[in-house]
Amino acid sequence: MAAPSTICRVTGKTHLERARALDATDPLAPARKHFELPDGLVYLNGNSLGPLASGVADRVAKTVHEEWGTSLSRSWSQSWWMDAPSRIGDRIAPLIGANPGEVLVCDTTSIALAKLLGAALAARPGRHVVVSTNDNFPSDLYAAAGAARLWGATLRVVDPATLENALDDDVAVCCITHVDFRTGVLHDLPGTTAAVHRAGALMLWDLCHSAGAVPVGCEAHDVDLAVGCTYKYLNAGPGSPSFLYVRRRLQEDLDNPLPGWLGHEEPFRFDLDWTPAQGIRRFLTSSPPVLALGALDAALDAFEGASIEAVRAKSEALSQLFIDVVLDAAVPSLEVASPRAAARRGSQVSLRHPRAPELVEAAAGAGVIGDLRPPELCRFGFGPLYLSHEDVAVAATTIVDVALSLS
Ligand SMILES: *Cc1c(COP(=O)(O)O)cnc(C)c1O
Repeated sequence: MAAPSTICRVTGKTHLERARALDATDPLAPARKHFELPDGLVYLNGNSLGPLASGVADRVAKTVHEEWGTSLSRSWSQSWWMDAPSRIGDRIAPLIGANPGEVLVCDTTSIALAKLLGAALAARPGRHVVVSTNDNFPSDLYAAAGAARLWGATLRVVDPATLENALDDDVAVCCITHVDFRTGVLHDLPGTTAAVHRAGALMLWDLCHSAGAVPVGCEAHDVDLAVGCTYKYLNAGPGSPSFLYVRRRLQEDLDNPLPGWLGHEEPFRFDLDWTPAQGIRRFLTSSPPVLALGALDAALDAFEGASIEAVRAKSEALSQLFIDVVLDAAVPSLEVASPRAAARRGSQVSLRHPRAPELVEAAAGAGVIGDLRPPELCRFGFGPLYLSHEDVAVAATTIVDVALSLS
């Protein structure tokens, strides 16, 4: 990997000196020990699949051998299995500014989104429109269109700039992803939530690219509903379940549109009719994915002692350093496609290059793992718990060198 020796226009030092100075006072530096990452590479794709946290393998092995393998079905009543969706939800709650009893880990994001849209549509009878934006993650739009069809509504997809005009009396619920998965643009969560409320609708945020990286403030900003995945910045592993958030005062007014036995007030009464459990548990459908929940529980240990505000501060510093190295190198073919102001982007930076697939592949060959969003975007995510500033300065310099070699 190339050494970052270019001079930083902000500090007058080399980028490497600036990075090392930031590392020397980094309060999150000790969190790196919670992760197992191969030597010799900088992993900038944790916004797609977070890396392996060190306690995960042991925890899953314990669950497999001791709980499942030895205690067998007794583990349902004798171990942590049954309560895991709400107990682990409570561990995610502070990361998104929610309270205990407002977050549940279950399903997958697209399914959780469809469930909460169904619940919101039923809670706003007489309104038959779901609004979303054309920068949303496609799977969210597929799930929203399906949910709308299923529950007698239509999906209205608009440009984010014209969102407020689309909020008329027909709108039951608006669903938007907080951080744009292509460009890293951070949407105005407080302002949009307030506008949706003024229109008499409910607001559902997708926090897939926020949870574990960007403070959300669900309570502070009056967010009604949210979903998010756990395999990006929460590092729970491939295919790990999603979480859903329903603010406390809405819980009794909303029905789970896909009820299942685990959301029943007494699952083991085996009633023929469904009576919802009190509180957030009514939004459960199926038995908990125990192995995946064990992995998530262990992965969340990496956040112990790290406030989401500290995580955000480091994320901003990392992405700013990355952008500064790229801008100072001034490679004509390489353009910063994310907002320049840290406050307007999530924990990722996208670069535009005419030969983006080759750039991502060559950077990986040189030890910098990023991601591609065709045709021209290279996407780099910053996990503040396991990346140092020096890692990021080195990675940005490597990307610049690769871009120069392709020009
Ligand atoms: C990653 C991501 C998802 C993932 O959906 P799954 O159904 O859990 O596979 C959904 N929405 C957004 C915005 C994402 O970034």
